[in-house]
Amino acid sequence: MNEYDSQRLRDLIESGSDSVRWVSTDQAEEADLLLLNTCSIREKAQEKVFSQLGRWRQLKTLRPEIQIGVGGCVAAQEGHELLKRAPFVDLIFGPQTLHRVPDLLKATRTQRLPVVDVSFPSIEKFDALPEPTIRGHKAFLSIMEGCSKYCSFCVVPYTRGEEVSRPLDDVLTEAAHAVRHGVREITLLGQNVNAYKGKNHRGQIIPFAELLHYLAAIPEIGWIRYTTSHPCEVTPELIDAYRHIPQLVSHLHLPVQSGSDRILSRMKRLHSRSAYLDTVLALRESRPDLHISSDFIVGFPGESDQDFQDTLDLIDTVSMDFSYSFIYSPRPGTPAAEYEDNVPMGVKKERLAVLQGRLAEAVRQKTEAMVGTIQNIMIEGVSDRLEQGIVGTAENTRLVHVPTTLPPCPGTILPVKISEAISTNALRGDLVSSS
Ligand code: SAH
Repeated sequence: MNEYDSQRLRDLIESGSDSVRWVSTDQAEEADLLLLNTCSIREKAQEKVFSQLGRWRQLKTLRPEIQIGVGGCVAAQEGHELLKRAPFVDLIFGPQTLHRVPDLLKATRTQRLPVVDVSFPSIEKFDALPEPTIRGHKAFLSIMEGCSKYCSFCVVPYTRGEEVSRPLDDVLTEAAHAVRHGVREITLLGQNVNAYKGKNHRGQIIPFAELLHYLAAIPEIGWIRYTTSHPCEVTPELIDAYRHIPQLVSHLHLPVQSGSDRILSRMKRLHSRSAYLDTVLALRESRPDLHISSDFIVGFPGESDQDFQDTLDLIDTVSMDFSYSFIYSPRPGTPAAEYEDNVPMGVKKERLAVLQGRLAEAVRQKTEAMVGTIQNIMIEGVSDRLEQGIVGTAENTRLVHVPTTLPPCPGTILPVKISEAISTNALRGDLVSSS
C-alpha cells in the first residue's frame, strides 16, 4: 500500500498542483524536495526512518534550501513528536493527508516553519488525487483503508484509522482506466481488503465478493489479486467467487499469525484454529488448486513450546505456500505492548529460524509439485536464464522461463507445461502447442 501511496503522491506532485514544476529523480543529491513514505508495522521499519533521515540531514546541511517531508504511518503515529528527533524536517503528513502535500508545501514556503497534518479525512484523499499514471502491465488499486479489527499486537487502526471503503464507481473507474491503458493484472489493496463495503451510486452497500464480480466483467482484465485479507471476512460469497471467477488467481494470502488457539485469543484474532482450517477447506472445495500463503508472528508474549508446535503443525495441515514470518515487535499504544513478555529473545530467534526453515521446505515442495502440470503464466519479459525465451509469473507467483522465439509481450497470459524446477522459486516450461 505504501508503494501505491508513493506512486499516487508522485503523480500528484508531478502534476504541479503547488504551482511548482517538479520532476522526479532517483538521486537524493539532486533533489530539492525529499519525501519519505514510512511504515510503522514493526519497530525495525520505524527505526529505518530515522537512519534515512540522518543521511538526508547531511544533504540539508550542505544545501539548507532543501525541503524534507515525512509521510505515512510513522508520521501519523509521531506527529509533532517527530520534530524532536528530526527538527530539520519541514513537512509531516499522514497516510490520509498525502493529497494535501501540495498545499502543505506552499505553506512551508510562506511560513518557514514545519507544517504538520496527520488527520484522518480518508475519503477526500482519493477524490483529490489525479488519475494514476499507468506504468507497465500490472497495477495496484487501493479499495479500502484502515482496519477495525484491533488485533492486540497491531498498530494499524491507530495509524491508518478504522476501515473506510472507496465508493464502487470510483474503484471500477480506476480499474477500467488501468485496463484501457494496458494493465492486465490488478492487485486490490487494503489493510483488511476483504472487509470492503463500498457504496454504489444508489447508496447500497456492495460487499467484496460482489466487487470481484464487477471487476471480472471488465473485458481484458486478465488477473485479479488482492491483499491483505482477514480470515474472519472470508464470506460464503467470497468462497463461491473462486468457483465462478476464473480471473481470480489461484493464490490467496490469508494471514493466520499463529496455529495455537490460546495465542490466537490473546492476539484477539477473532477466530480459532479450526475456524481457519474450515475456511481453507471450503476455499479449496471451490478452487482445488488454491495456493494459500500466510503471515506468522513468533514469540508473542506467553507463547509456549506447545503453542509454537501448533503453529508448525498448521503449516503442514494447510500445506502453506511462501509465507512471511516475524518476531513479535511491541508497538506503542497497542494492548499487547502491555502484556508481560516471558519469552527470551534467544528463544524467539530460534523459533523464527525453525519456522522459516519449515516454510522454505514447504515452498520447495510446492514448486516441485508443479512439474508436469499445466500453468497459466503472465508474460513479464525476456528470460535472463535462457538463451532465447520469455519469463512469466504463474498464478502462485513462481517465475516460469519458457524457451520460444515469440516476442515477449508483457501481460499476455499463456498456458505452459512445466518441465523442471530450477530453483525454489523458478521453473522451466514449454508452451502448450495450441497456444
Ligand atoms: N491485515 C493483516 C495484517 C497485515 S500487516 C492481518 O490482519 O492479518 C502484515 C503483517 O505484519 C501481519 O500479518 C503480521 O504478521 C505482521 N505484524 C503486524 N504487527 C506486528 C507486530 N507488532 N509484531 C510483529 N509482526 C507484526
